[in-house]
Amino acid sequence: MSKLIIGLTGGIGSGKTTVTNAFAKLGVDIIDADIIAREVVALESPALKSIAQHFGKNFLLADGQLNRKLLRQKVFSDEASKQWLNSLLHPLIRTAIINQTKEATSPYCILVAPLLIENQLLKLVNRVLVIDVLEQTQIARTMRRDGNSAEQVKSVMASQISRNNRLAAADDIINNDTATFAEIESLVAKLDKKYLTLTKMH
Ligand code: ADP
Repeated sequence: MSKLIIGLTGGIGSGKTTVTNAFAKLGVDIIDADIIAREVVALESPALKSIAQHFGKNFLLADGQLNRKLLRQKVFSDEASKQWLNSLLHPLIRTAIINQTKEATSPYCILVAPLLIENQLLKLVNRVLVIDVLEQTQIARTMRRDGNSAEQVKSVMASQISRNNRLAAADDIINNDTATFAEIESLVAKLDKKYLTLTKMH
């Protein structure tokens, strides 16, 4: 029997972390694509060496860590660089995700990924849970959380799939516009029951 894997996604500031923490509190193993994406370019990793060879040593900080800001700027302004980087990192990230899902010990596990749909990670999951909010809620909460301007939040949103297309990929949806944190916990508890039932049929 293979393990049931739930893909959890949503735009910036939609509440992915908040919902994920509620699942974690119930003992569900969480695999975080953002953490994995950082791990594959950790200090002295083969991928980090490839990046320094391809783009130059100035893409490393004095302590040898990746200069993320410079790399972000580079791939933002240059499509070929973006493709090169994606073709290096995406297979490594996929392999690490698959390994972590195999190591998970809870009856089902959650893969949380902001770009689950955009980065073709759907094939790795059995169901999709979308955390959905109005765009104005996304902007207001992200500005408050990160101290960013509305323009900065909007430019991240523009690089993500549209709300409608994300919802079209959903099997389950948590509407996080008006929910209180207590309500989120009870919605998560309901979904947890559903996923445990599905696990038995999987
Ligand atoms: P994401 O991980 O999708 O970027 P977060 O879970 O960090 O989103 O939520 C964005 C911000 O909004 C955080 O500061 C979080 O505490 C807050 N937040 C999330 N859900 C709610 C809610 N239902 N009501 C009020 N604030 C919320």
